[in-house]
Amino acid sequence: MNAEAHEPIMGIDLGTTNSLVAVADETGPRILEGPGGRRILPSVVRLRDGAPEAIGDEARRHAVEHPQRTVFSIKRLMGKGLADAAGVLDYLPYEVVEGEHETARVKVDDQVFSPPQISAMILRELKSWAEAALGRELRKAVVTVPAYFDDAQRQATRDAGRLAGLDVVRIVNEPTAAALAYGIGFRDQGSGIVRKNKDGSLVLHAKIKPEVCVGEPSAIRHPPSAIAQTIAVYDLGGGTFDISILRLQHTDSGAVDQVLSTAGDTHLGGDDVDRMIVELMQAEIRAKFGAHIDFPPGTRQAFRNFAEATKIRLSQQEQATVEIDLGEGRVYQRTITRVELEKMIQPWIERSLECCRRALRAAKLSPGDIERVVMVGGSTRIPAVNRAVGELFETEPYTALNPDEVVALGAAVQGAILAGVHRDRLLLDVIPLSLGIETMGGAVAKLITANSTIPARATEMFSTYTEGQTNVKIHVLQGERELVKDCRTLGQFELRNIPPMPAGLPKIEVTFLVDANGILNVRAVEQRSGRRASIQVIPSHGLSRDEVDRLERESFEHAREDMTAHRLIDLRLNAQLDIRNIRKQLDRVGSDLPPEYVKQIEDHIAAVRGFIDAENPDADAFGAAMTKMDHATIRLAEAAITRTLREEGN
Ligand code: AMP
Repeated sequence: MNAEAHEPIMGIDLGTTNSLVAVADETGPRILEGPGGRRILPSVVRLRDGAPEAIGDEARRHAVEHPQRTVFSIKRLMGKGLADAAGVLDYLPYEVVEGEHETARVKVDDQVFSPPQISAMILRELKSWAEAALGRELRKAVVTVPAYFDDAQRQATRDAGRLAGLDVVRIVNEPTAAALAYGIGFRDQGSGIVRKNKDGSLVLHAKIKPEVCVGEPSAIRHPPSAIAQTIAVYDLGGGTFDISILRLQHTDSGAVDQVLSTAGDTHLGGDDVDRMIVELMQAEIRAKFGAHIDFPPGTRQAFRNFAEATKIRLSQQEQATVEIDLGEGRVYQRTITRVELEKMIQPWIERSLECCRRALRAAKLSPGDIERVVMVGGSTRIPAVNRAVGELFETEPYTALNPDEVVALGAAVQGAILAGVHRDRLLLDVIPLSLGIETMGGAVAKLITANSTIPARATEMFSTYTEGQTNVKIHVLQGERELVKDCRTLGQFELRNIPPMPAGLPKIEVTFLVDANGILNVRAVEQRSGRRASIQVIPSHGLSRDEVDRLERESFEHAREDMTAHRLIDLRLNAQLDIRNIRKQLDRVGSDLPPEYVKQIEDHIAAVRGFIDAENPDADAFGAAMTKMDHATIRLAEAAITRTLREEGN
C-alpha cells in the first residue's frame, strides 16, 4: 500500500517530565520538531483564567515565579483517586483537590481541571508541532503509557487524547514502543526472516543466501508463537527507574506484547548522581576554605548545574575539570576522572540491577533468557550503566537510538503500521548498501558488502599510519562508492589511549556485526593493549528503497573512476611508506654503499615523488615507477640486513 495515500499516524510519548511527537514512513521513524527546532516539549503547563498561558519550555523556565499556577508531573495524577495520589502530593506546589468519584483534580485560582484536561493541553501543543512540521492536518495518534498503568490510567490517557481532538488509535506500553523503534518483534531472532505469504500466513526464510534472495525464496511455514521474543527494557531517567520484561510477538498490526513483570524505583535516577557530585564538591570546599562556608540557594542551583555538566562530560571523556569562583579570591578547582565517578556511582547502579533481578525472579526467568535489552532514558548514556546492564543480561544493550527519543520513535513505528505502511517496507531483510570504515587518504574499506543476509558479521585488521599515534578515529560509512566523500556517514568513534608504538605496529581488529534486527555494532580492539571502543547504529534509518536504488545505480555509473581514485589513494600511501623506509635505511647504511648507487635511488625516489605530488597521475605509470624503485633498492635492503647481522654478532 502506498503510505502517501494514508493519513500519517503520529506517535506520542506523553511523559512525566517531557513529551515528544514522531512520525514514521518507510525510511524509518523521526522526531517532529517544534518552533526553533525543539525536539522535546517539557510536560509543564502554566494556567491563567482557565486556559493555558504557557506550555513547555516557557512554563518550566518560569515555574519558580508561578508555583501555584504551573502544573508539572500531571502524569502522576492521571486516572488516580485523591487517596492513591497521596504519595506525590507532598512535592507538588500546585493545589490538588478531590473531584467527582473521589478523583484527583488540579485547582488553579478558582478553576478545577481534571488531569486529562491538562494532558490534553500538552497533546494539543504536540499536535500543532506535528501539523506544522508535516504541513497537513493530523488527527490520529498512538500514545504511550508506562507498562504498569492500570485501566483507569489508560482510560484517562485516551480521554486526554479525545479532549485534544485526537483519535487515539492505540495505547502502547512505553517499553514495547522502545522495542518497536529497534524493529524488535518484526523479525525472528534466531533462524531467519519472517515475511507474510500472499494468503496471510507467516513464512520464515531461514538463512537465505544473497543470490537466492533475489527470486521468490522457498518458504517454511512457521507458527507465530515461535517468533515471540523475550526482552528487557531498562529505563533510567532523571528521577525514576523502570525495568520491564516483555514478550513481544509479531502480528499483522504490529507487535503484541505480554508484560511478564515490571519493577522500579520512583527515587532512582540521574539526579542522584548530580547530588553525589555536589556533595563531593561541597565537602572539599569546606575542607579547603573552612567548615563555616555557606551555600545560599542560588549557588546550590549553580552547583547542581556544574555537577550535571561534569557528569555528562564524563560520559564522553575520561576526565573533566570544574572551576568554581567562590569570591574573595577563593577558587575551587577539581578534576574528576571517569574512574572516580564510576566508583562513586557503583552502589547506585547496583540498586537498579537489584530491581532487574527482582523483575527477572517475578517473571521466573534467568538473565540468559533475555534475548535483547533496550536502553531508555538519559542516564543510560553513562558508560558504566551500559556495561553493568550488558553484564547482567549477558548481551550488548541496544543504544543506537537517542534514549530520550526512542519511545516516541517506536510509537511512530506502530502508527505507521496502523496507517498501512507495510511492515516489510519498514525493515530490511538484506543489508541494502555496503558497510565499511574510512581508511587513510579518504578511501573506504568495505567490511560487509551489499545484499549480505542479516545477520552478518565481518572482521578485519587495521593499523596506524603515524609514529606513536595514540588515538584512532573509526568513521563508519555506508555506500557502494570507493571514496568517503561519496558515501553516507553512519557514525564515528575514537579508540583512545593506545600506547605509543611505531606506525603500523598496533593491531586494530575492527568487527562489524549486524544482528537479526538490522542493528549494526562496530567494535574496535587494539590487540596489544586491549583498548577497545564501540558504536551502535541503524544502517536502514533514513534510507528509502528508492534511495538505495539510486545509490546502487550511481555506483555502477562511477565504477571505473572510483576504482582509479581508490587505486591512486593506495598507491600514494604505499609510496609514502616505501620512501620513508628507504630513507631510514639510507641514513643507516648509505655510507657503506657507492655514491652512484645512492644517487640512482635518489632519482627513483624523485620520480615516485613526482607521481605522489601530481594532481592526476596515471595510475599505471605510477605503479610502474614504484616497481622500479622497489627493484632498485634490493641492494640497499641487503646492506641493511648485513649491517643488522654484523651488529647482532658483536
Ligand atoms: P530523562 O528523564 O530520560 O530525560 O533523563 C534525564 C537524565 O539523564 C538527567 O539526569 C540527565 O542529567 C541525564 N543525562 C542526559 N544526558 C546524559 C549523559 N550524556 N550522561 C549522563 N547522564 C545524562
